[in-house]
Amino acid sequence: MIDLTLTEALRKLNSGEVTSVALTRALLDRIHQVDPAVRAFLTLTEEQALAQAEAADQRRARGDTAPLLGIPLAIKDVLATQGVQTTCGSRILEGFRPVYDATVVQRLLDAGMVMLGKTNTDEFAMGSSTENSGYFTTHNPWDLARVPGGSSGGSAAAVAANMAYGALGTDTGGSVRQPASLCGVVGLKPGYGRVSRYGLIAYASSLDQVGTLTRSVEDTARLLSVIAGHDPKDSTSMPLPVPDYLAALANADVRGLRIGLPREYFTTGIQPEVEAAVRAAVDVLVGLGAEVVEISLPHTDYGLPVYYLVATAEASANLARFDGVRYGPREDRGEMWATYTATRGERFGPEVKRRIMLGTYALSAGYYDAYYLKAQQVRTLVRQDFDEAFEKVDVIAAPASPTTAFKIGEKADDPLQMYLSDVYTVTINLAGIAGLSVPCGFDGQGLPIGLQLLGPAFQEDRLLRVGHVYEQATGWHTRRPTVG
Ligand code: GLN
Repeated sequence: MIDLTLTEALRKLNSGEVTSVALTRALLDRIHQVDPAVRAFLTLTEEQALAQAEAADQRRARGDTAPLLGIPLAIKDVLATQGVQTTCGSRILEGFRPVYDATVVQRLLDAGMVMLGKTNTDEFAMGSSTENSGYFTTHNPWDLARVPGGSSGGSAAAVAANMAYGALGTDTGGSVRQPASLCGVVGLKPGYGRVSRYGLIAYASSLDQVGTLTRSVEDTARLLSVIAGHDPKDSTSMPLPVPDYLAALANADVRGLRIGLPREYFTTGIQPEVEAAVRAAVDVLVGLGAEVVEISLPHTDYGLPVYYLVATAEASANLARFDGVRYGPREDRGEMWATYTATRGERFGPEVKRRIMLGTYALSAGYYDAYYLKAQQVRTLVRQDFDEAFEKVDVIAAPASPTTAFKIGEKADDPLQMYLSDVYTVTINLAGIAGLSVPCGFDGQGLPIGLQLLGPAFQEDRLLRVGHVYEQATGWHTRRPTVG
């Protein structure tokens, strides 16, 4: 039961072959069996999950046809869950229980989700490996000595290791697509504004977007259908109609599709097997009737510096609210400034502190024009690169990550090396467009590789169609690691 896709599980529920309680128990057993080694979950909500499963079975018996009725999912721990500890992977929110659900969580619950628990993340989603979690590192189910990617590494590992039928992650600079790639699952970052950020504890508000991690593109379509759409509580969510993403997959084909290959993406620093797998994936699509167009995204090289200025600047402002007074635990030193200093000094981890300092510096008088303002100007150029590209092509194909999963500890002491692993993902957030990572092969060590498909902001359905056609033609997404 545990290795079904979400779609298959739903079919079995609808046909009466299984109950949600049975599925939920099977996944909880699986979690108890393998999570001591993988460590994907920060919090398990076992009792609540079984109660939700029972309620789902009763709803189904009454004829309820909610789209995810009885489906067990996992939620990244940066999304607020009412009454359930929400830490953002940080000690500064240890024990914090929000009084409300994030809109995406609420929508999933309304659609019938069973919530299994909250997944591990780099602290405040700052990182590419989960090694920056204030609690522990998640291990890659394909090789426990390696990272699952990050920051949504817990969600990606949970889905890859058959501990959940799908999960929510968040993506500010690659945090859904990169771990999806490193764990061999499907990861979608919707266009900025497609999904509500209400209740997503902000890292960098102009870049953050909620995304999904699943075992198939069809599963992604099902989750996106539920979470997408305008939310009056998030003024940056777009008041656009939400297409029928599932219907979009029916009879999908890629004949005549123009695929752009950015010449700047296949240069130095890319693992040869990754490049080969991505090019082979494009060949598969060409074999199905697509055509390839070489394109240029000339400001690609500025992506990382611009991202690490904008993201840290916004983070330094967003994280000012964690002071031991309003949320989470307090290191009480009797006096106000000492209490602030102790709480932030002792409970934020080193990467978060580094970014608050970088961001504060970039925003400070005298440096604002030279760094922050300049970064915003170059951000516009990055966005224009994509606008121009999408006049010539329908989608862009790229790697999701320059390498497959690296060893735990390999880059942990070298922030710059770690930042470089985001080279193919951060520009997408700067431009606000959509990105989908689908499994496209393995390297010589049996580690998964992801193909990243990029499309204009609210054309997620286009990406899903291409991803679905690719999946049907290759079947890479059906491979699962052996753990436990
Ligand atoms: N690795 C990038 C960072 O550390 C992206 C993280 C994310 O998307 N949340 O900022």
